[in-house]
Amino acid sequence: MTPRRNPFTASPAVPGKILIVGGGFAGFWAALAARRVAGPQAEVTLVSPEPVLQIRPRLYEARPETLGVPLLPLLRKVDVGFVRGEAVRLDTAAKAATLAAGDRLAYDRLVVATGSRMRRPPVPGAEAAFSVDTQVEAIAFDRRLGEIVRDVAEPTIAVVGAGFTGVELALELRDRLLAHGANDAAERLRIVLIDRAETIGPELGPGPRPEIEAALAAAGVELRLGAAVRALAADRVSFTDDSVLAADAVVLATGMAASPFAAQVPGRRDELGRVVVDTALRAPAAPEVFVAGDAGAADTGDGHRTLQSCQHAGQLGRVAGENAARDLLGLPLMPYTQLRYLTCLDLGRSGAVITEGWERRVEKTGSEGKAVKRRINTQVIYPPADGTAEALLASSSTNLAERQAPLKLKTKAA
Ligand SMILES: Cc1cc2nc3c(=O)[nH]c(=O)nc-3n(C[C@H](O)[C@H](O)[C@H](O)COP(=O)(O)OP(=O)(O)OC[C@H]3O[C@@H](n4cnc5c(N)ncnc54)[C@H](O)[C@@H]3O)c2cc1C
Repeated sequence: MTPRRNPFTASPAVPGKILIVGGGFAGFWAALAARRVAGPQAEVTLVSPEPVLQIRPRLYEARPETLGVPLLPLLRKVDVGFVRGEAVRLDTAAKAATLAAGDRLAYDRLVVATGSRMRRPPVPGAEAAFSVDTQVEAIAFDRRLGEIVRDVAEPTIAVVGAGFTGVELALELRDRLLAHGANDAAERLRIVLIDRAETIGPELGPGPRPEIEAALAAAGVELRLGAAVRALAADRVSFTDDSVLAADAVVLATGMAASPFAAQVPGRRDELGRVVVDTALRAPAAPEVFVAGDAGAADTGDGHRTLQSCQHAGQLGRVAGENAARDLLGLPLMPYTQLRYLTCLDLGRSGAVITEGWERRVEKTGSEGKAVKRRINTQVIYPPADGTAEALLASSSTNLAERQAPLKLKTKAA
């Protein structure tokens, strides 16, 4: 009897190699999309430091140690190979990436999906502050919260950066202490949210601001806006006006920039260090290289630049993976478009605010908004729970409308 062949296993006769660097949202879905399109006609390999999809958008929440999805069982089902490592060098002429450990991985098509890292402010002591940028960093901060609950009766926590992440984190902190068993200390917690900008969440625009301001006031979060930080330490924030805020923890949420590997891709970069790609997500100066997620800057198809967001990273990854495979097979490439843009900001005990479109019209607030945010955070951004090969490949479809159909949000005008 002829043994049954895994339909996703690359045929040994086919030499095509698709390499994906970075196992975040963009890289994971790029790998699945490449396999879906190439079928058995390519070897698809994902390289990342750990075989774990870190659920970064949730790292402001309690129990950060639970916010990672093991990738190996999923990748195995669709015959995507995994190499543990950090790519440090790219040789586009030789079509190979070199890992920190020295291994050299050859490719026919490459997808760079190395994501982003928080930018620490260029002030003395910035390294001493916590962050929730990666799972490891979020776990370290959570450990500190546990110590605070044990040791400090009237704690103060300073959050530096009043953008998306800083707001979500500040509004979660009382419940984070409660999760560690605090009662009185949680309610007595002094939370100070600091930004050099004069307004909360300047990048979110004026639409959702009243909701955000009301939530911060209801949660008793003190604001220090228009405040320039001169130096940081584990237990204090020093300002340029010579004032000092003593704190039991200082945590940064000071914005993100592309991870360093993106600098290896030849061509133009934007102010966030992202590779500026064409409509097929190809790096114009390196035709065999596609870039996706927070590492790339693309036009969303409606004149806007992609944002460093999970929402964009997933779709960018799917299109980049599909195009890497199409290119390898000599098929026409598909243009990247982002059909819609939602902002879903968790407001802690005040629920969440959901906005639609680039002008960020507020669509849902309070508990209604929270239900949408919870669904996004616990279902939409995760790989399919049943995880069959078919379900995994289907989840890599580039048809956003189909994938998001159950999430339909009615606009007020509709
Ligand atoms: C606290 C927080 C809250 C957020 N909230 C939201 C939100 O509400 N909504 C939203 O849309 N977005 C949110 N984001 C942003 C979102 O998480 C990112 O935009 C998204 O993770 C980007 O996906 P990515 O795959 O491009 O990169 P990443 O998720 O950064 O993944 C990149 C992967 O590449 C790996 N890697 C990096 N360099 C190398 C290398 N040289 N070699 C091999 N592997 C490498 C990394 O280890 C990682 O596994 C939030 C982020 C944070 C930190």
